[in-house]
Amino acid sequence: MHIFREIKALQAHLRTLRSTYSSVGFVPTMGALHDGHLSLLRAARHENAVSICSIYVNPTQFGNPADLEKYPRTLEADLALLRKENCDVVFCPNNDEMYGQSPPISLSFPGLDKVLEGEFRPGHFSGVAQVVAKLFHIVEPDRAYFGEKDFQQVLIVRRLVEALSFNVKIVSLPIVREADGLALSSRNQRLQPADRIAATVLYAALNHARQSLLQGETLERVRAEAKEMCAAKGVSLEYLALAETKALTLLERVTDPHSSILLMAAQVGPVRLIDNLRIQTA
Ligand code: AMP
Repeated sequence: MHIFREIKALQAHLRTLRSTYSSVGFVPTMGALHDGHLSLLRAARHENAVSICSIYVNPTQFGNPADLEKYPRTLEADLALLRKENCDVVFCPNNDEMYGQSPPISLSFPGLDKVLEGEFRPGHFSGVAQVVAKLFHIVEPDRAYFGEKDFQQVLIVRRLVEALSFNVKIVSLPIVREADGLALSSRNQRLQPADRIAATVLYAALNHARQSLLQGETLERVRAEAKEMCAAKGVSLEYLALAETKALTLLERVTDPHSSILLMAAQVGPVRLIDNLRIQTA
């Protein structure tokens, strides 16, 4: 496994690999790796001659400095996991290498970036798009792998690729969960034991909401029930929304279960978690 901290050295290595190998599969991450990340890497390895994973906690997507500071950083353990998974190349730059002294820019995605996560984390998707665009220019992957855990992010990345004509195929893969339903997240590491137990309410509330909507319950009522379920576990529901899966248009009721998804965010102790559930898988 080759590890690079510098863009130029990485690009020189990728150039030599490309002269021999047909395709490069890329998995961008912020580290603190878990099975969700590894599911993306396994797909990248399976579908490409060369796999590359980046580990970079991107400051431009954090509005809250305390959140950025507390984000788990476990580089040595991450590298050991990637080695075990036979990842070919790792890119783990520092902030100076990624951004240098360049003044900030912003990117906007009308219709997509002001709702849900965009409403509660202003500027977040501009930062995500900025770092993803940079990484795509640096790595020039044939395929890039993203998790549906961050459903809105996948739509933003697809829009970015289309708008700026990146020559990359975006592959999105399902959420990997713990046995008790909690979606794997690097942020779960920061949950105290009692909060870790309480956090299972997110998936339970999503399932309950899905069931209620399919039985004809109003979204208003479904939202109130989810709020109550969360509150009973000491979890504060930030939003529960129903949306259409292609453009993330917010819905009031389920008309087509195959193209509707429930999305939620909740505060569990000091940790903010997100999750989502399709009304019906395609
Ligand atoms: P992150 O390190 O949180 O930026 O995540 C890197 C990639 O892993 C993103 O595409 C995430 O959507 C994906 N990911 C995170 N958690 C999961 C999960 N539980 N299942 C599947 N993919 C995930």
